[in-house]
Order: sequence, then structure tokens, then C-alpha cells
Amino acid sequence: MQNELLNWFYQNKRDLPWRHGRSPYRVWVSEIMLQQTQVKTVIPYYKKWIKKYPTLKSFKESNFDDVIKIWEGLGYYSRCQNMFNAAKLIKSSFPNDYDDLIKLPGIGDYTAKTILAIAFKKNFVGVDTNLERIGYRILGLKTKTKRNHNRVIRFLEENQCTENPGDYNEALMDLGSSLCKASITYCNRCPLKNICKAYTYSSPTLYPTPKVSKKISIYDIAISVIEYQNKVLIMKRQNTKFLSGLWEFPGGKIEKNETAIQSIIREVKEETNLSISNPVFLGNITHKYSHFGVNISLFISFPKSIKSINIDQEYKWIKINDILNYPLPKANHKMLDILKKLD
Ligand code: SF4
Repeated sequence: MQNELLNWFYQNKRDLPWRHGRSPYRVWVSEIMLQQTQVKTVIPYYKKWIKKYPTLKSFKESNFDDVIKIWEGLGYYSRCQNMFNAAKLIKSSFPNDYDDLIKLPGIGDYTAKTILAIAFKKNFVGVDTNLERIGYRILGLKTKTKRNHNRVIRFLEENQCTENPGDYNEALMDLGSSLCKASITYCNRCPLKNICKAYTYSSPTLYPTPKVSKKISIYDIAISVIEYQNKVLIMKRQNTKFLSGLWEFPGGKIEKNETAIQSIIREVKEETNLSISNPVFLGNITHKYSHFGVNISLFISFPKSIKSINIDQEYKWIKINDILNYPLPKANHKMLDILKKLD
């Protein structure tokens, strides 16, 4: 298996920015960015990051507001926070031991093994959903069980190339993203077809049995731009797992039996202690995050006075033209499109 796979890899490997000028730090950055995120999405973020923080040392000296600004739009923001925290914990050189790596925030079994294989040429196989899928197909396993999962891991580890463990990992990654995809396979170009049971059964995409996709919940949200003396109010999300550290306009979920306009008046009062009487409806936005979607009613309000303002979190009054200096959740960029069309 190794020879066929590696020969195919050396002829077909993707030219990715993190495959140039490698260091354990750069492998780590790319692997964290690639978690649950497509390669084409990650590329510009990775380039920007490495330009600003080319070494672990430069990243360790960073401040979080600058770091999250680079991450803005990439999603799953806890990854960024974990990396920042992990960098502070790394004493001098990047750890090259599984037990040390796994202790760092944001590094799980897959990431630790992948870093060790690629950056340190250690004999590990990081098995993510792509590699797992290939294993299920080669072994002709349909049902996802713990036992089958372990069989897949054992198979992939037994066939590991001890001379080039990183190449073996990356060859499987590239195979999973090009020929052996979840919903389509290109078996006749595959270097592993001679050993692949799912190929001989002629229905590889049924291995493992595909999950029935769940419907995600959509929440109705009301949000208002609060404008006072040509400045708008933004607030920093803090102590939340979701989108923490990003800036947003006030607002929140529309409760049952509440109209959007009633909701925004209540939310603004609760969050800022400001009274707004005539919010003006600007438009509607839908946006999907990984586990849920939002349907946002966007308003603008002009309070007569802001003397009563009382906000528990960090906030600022800024010129709307300066807003792109602050990291914002993706949905807020769509709101800015509505705001731009106001003039
Ligand atoms: S032969 Fe087909 S199903 Fe089997 S590993 Fe290759 S692409 Fe995947």
C-alpha cells in the first residue's frame, strides 16, 4: 500500500502554502486552521498569519486583539483563543512529545499525532474524518462503531511508512480530498483500488453508511445600530464560548409572542439601559453558523440621550467608517452591506 500511495502522492501532491518553509509552529498553525475548515478558505488566512507571525517567538509576543483580527471570519474562534493560550504555555522550543503536546489547549489526539508525523517525522498517524473514511472503504466496513473505528486505526498504523511518516499522512489527506471524497469517488485513478474492498463492491460512497443530515435550528434575532452624535455603539463579546472577543451591535433573540421591534427595544434596554422609542427597520439577513442559523432583523435607533447608559461589558462609540478596524462576526459584515446601501 505504501509504495503505491506515496508514488501517487509525489506525482499529485497539492502545492499548499504550509508545505513550504516548514517548522513545527507552522504545521501547528495550519492544522488548527484546517480543523473543520476547507483548505481554500484557510489559505489566505494562513498566509496573512505567517506574514505577521512567522515564528513561534513572534506569536508569543503578540496581543490577542491583533491575533483575533487576523482570525476574523475564519470561524470557530475558540481555536484562536486556544492557540494564543497554548503559545504562552510553550516554554522555549515546540514540544515534540505526544504527552506534552496533548496537554496544550486546542491540541487533541489527531492534531498531536499529525504534528508529530509531519513536523518531527515520528511514527504517528493522525486519523481525521478523511483518513477514517478511506480506512472504512479499504476494509469494506459499513457501520460506524467503536470496534470498526479501532480496526481502521490499526490498519492505517500498521501500514504507516516509518521512513516518511509525514508524507504518508499527507498522502492520505490528499487522497481523501481529491479522489476518495465523502459523496464522490474517482476509483479508477486511485492508487489503492487493488486493495480496496468498497471498490470491489462498486458502491464506495456507501462505506461507511452516510449520516442523514440533521436540520439545524434557525433563531430569530433583532439587532440595532445605535447612533448618537454621528457615532455608533459597539460592544465586545466576552466570557462567551461563541464568537468571544469579537465586536457587535446590541441585540438578541426575539422571544415568543414578541415582535422584532418589541424585542429590540427590550434587548437594548437590558443590555445598555438605553431607551429607544422608534427603531427603524433596515433589512433582514440570514446567516448559517456550523450548528445553527440566524435570521436577523436589523434596525437603527437614535436615542435622545445616552446619560443613562450602563453596560457590563467593554464598549465603544465609533465612527461607522472605522468599524472594519474591529473584528466582527461574519453576520455583521452582511449587516454592513445593508448599512452601506443606506446613503
Ligand atoms: S478505490 Fe475508491 S473507494 Fe477505495 S480508496 Fe480508492 S477512491 Fe476510495
